[in-house]
Amino acid sequence: MPGRGVAWRNGEHGSTNVQSGRGPARSRHPRSARAIPITTEEPNLNASAQLAAAVVPAAGRGERLGPGAPKALRELGGVPLLVHAVRALARSRAVGLVVVCAPPDGVAEVVSLLDSHGLDGKDVRVVPGGASRQESVRLGLAAVPAGTRVVLVHDAARPLVPVEVVDAVAAAVRAGAEAVVPAVPLADTVKRVEPQPSGPEPVLDTPDRSTLRAVQTPQGFDLPALVAAHGKALAEGAEVTDDAGLIERFGGRVVVVPGHEEAFKVTRPLDLVLAEAVLARRRATDGY
Ligand code: C5P
Repeated sequence: MPGRGVAWRNGEHGSTNVQSGRGPARSRHPRSARAIPITTEEPNLNASAQLAAAVVPAAGRGERLGPGAPKALRELGGVPLLVHAVRALARSRAVGLVVVCAPPDGVAEVVSLLDSHGLDGKDVRVVPGGASRQESVRLGLAAVPAGTRVVLVHDAARPLVPVEVVDAVAAAVRAGAEAVVPAVPLADTVKRVEPQPSGPEPVLDTPDRSTLRAVQTPQGFDLPALVAAHGKALAEGAEVTDDAGLIERFGGRVVVVPGHEEAFKVTRPLDLVLAEAVLARRRATDGY
């Protein structure tokens, strides 16, 4: 049900048209020379309910990364973070559709950006995101075809998640889990503090590190459960920082599967340096 500013990219369909008003996007990428068209018509994207849909919130400004373009459009190895993230999902045979939540004023730009990079014929839909990550995800979920069983939510800011993590999360949902998060143990000891506007912060306690996990994405969900949780959160004005947090809040069960050190979030300038190094190593060792 495409709405305003919604565009489809689909390797199997013919017309090129962007509803948000720009002309047809032209492919500059050799793999998309076959023309991956952009159309506002809704194709039957998820014929197999077995395939997961992935929602990629990419509408944030990313101010902690410093001034410049929205974070998802910053480049890593000459390719925007968002394109890396979409490719990481598209690489998974478990994923049939990727819905990208673009900055509300940047839908046409994101459509043309995705069109200029090859995405192995996967179906990609672009919708306008919202004012918060939570709102962006809710808008993305509304674009997932009914009947889809498994939905993954993946931050554009985690461009290097290995396909094994994507596969493992999708498999755990398919096996019956309501909500699945990939996570890694913490290297640092964590203290709970009483935050202060300035000056030293009193320590309240030190949680047992062996019970703590740093949570990554993609997080995987039973689609109706996640849609219901977002609906309740909207009604109650509840705000959380991750989608699994909404499931927890409304009494659902969330399980953790192993994440990966390369699935880290690019937040600060140093993260970009690390991501460039990881990418360079991949390119040198496996022709990534
Ligand atoms: O700001 P943070 O790094 O937590 O954002 C996580 C993800 O949520 C990013 O991929 C960002 O683009 C996305 N986001 C969004 N809509 C917003 C704010 C953040 O899609 N309004």
